[in-house]
Amino acid sequence: MDDAAAFHHPLYDLLIDDLGVTVGLGRVDDLLTWGLTNALWIFPMATSCCGIEFMAAAASRVDIDRMGSIPRGTPRQADVMVIAGTITTKMAPRVKLLWDQMPEPKWAIAMGSCAISGDFYRNLYSVVPGVDTFMPVDVYVPGCPPNPEWLMAGMLRLKELVYARRRGAAARAVDPALMAITNPSIPRVNDPARPPEQDALQIAATQSATADQMLPRLVVAPLAEAPNVAPLVGSDLEALLKELGVTELPKEGPPLVPANRHLELARRLKALGYRQYVSVIAAHFLAGTGRKGKDPAEPEHFEVTTLVRTVGSGTKLATWTVRLAVTSEGAEHLPSLAGVYAGADWQEREQYDLVGVKFAGHPDLRRLMMAENYPNHPLRKDFAVDSPSAPWR
Ligand code: SF4
Repeated sequence: MDDAAAFHHPLYDLLIDDLGVTVGLGRVDDLLTWGLTNALWIFPMATSCCGIEFMAAAASRVDIDRMGSIPRGTPRQADVMVIAGTITTKMAPRVKLLWDQMPEPKWAIAMGSCAISGDFYRNLYSVVPGVDTFMPVDVYVPGCPPNPEWLMAGMLRLKELVYARRRGAAARAVDPALMAITNPSIPRVNDPARPPEQDALQIAATQSATADQMLPRLVVAPLAEAPNVAPLVGSDLEALLKELGVTELPKEGPPLVPANRHLELARRLKALGYRQYVSVIAAHFLAGTGRKGKDPAEPEHFEVTTLVRTVGSGTKLATWTVRLAVTSEGAEHLPSLAGVYAGADWQEREQYDLVGVKFAGHPDLRRLMMAENYPNHPLRKDFAVDSPSAPWR
């Protein structure tokens, strides 16, 4: 009792000492919420065209900074992840990792129909059918692309949501009829039907490749420096092909060169001044099909076409194709040109990844575009677009 009588609050003292001072009362929680909702720092997960609209939101017309929403380059200082663009199965675990690195409390906005549902890529082998299949999303900003004003509206919607949740309101229920329209084959994060093991499944599906998924790393011996050569004459390639035993020069396509002359031809061409490796393109032919369309005599095979060129004015192109047999034991390998042309390294990896051609002697034949342990080669003719690819579809 004595203690209570002796109690002095600085605020009471102020009121007694300075008559006329006005004091407003409020809850500390309201003050914190006000601060929080007016400083929603953004971690931009901008990957494609929607990312451009996201950038425009920071320009003078919308000026998203005026609500304290500063984009941050690190997840550790951000409150809201804005996923603006298409997310592939290879990127998904990286996006999830960045999300996990953001401190609580945190929110996510899916900006644009690609982030929401995969949009017109949703049935494509490489695209995630909506980011909420692997992380929670608080606000969806529809459109293809949504304009910067719509992103601003999404941020304001998020503000309302944060206020409501901090006051104890339950998150707004999702309209089940709406969800049913766009439901992907794997349940979304907020779907009660989602099995608990789904998260682990999805991350495990895109972990680093195991050693047995890669071909042996055989390094092709580097070539000695190609000498300076005299200007080329038109018949260089033709003469060279004849020297290598290739006499058929079809008019409707590149000449067919045996696989065991592929490396030698590339080396000789480089020495003649064809110093730029332009491209390698592989095609898969099922049994009964060939260059000229249906042909019952044709067995299953690959055709791999290489294009190199001279550099400088009056540039010349040289192109040839190697045919690789496919037997019950697998497909024939093609010698890698990575030791001749540095540019062949990643281009051969791309063809291996998408078509399944193996390049013998490649120094590092790993997948390039698909997730490291993706099981298929999606540009093969026998790949069905609706092939199940756990856990994404
Ligand atoms: S929703 Fe449209 S604009 Fe946005 S990333 Fe997808 S295709 Fe591009």
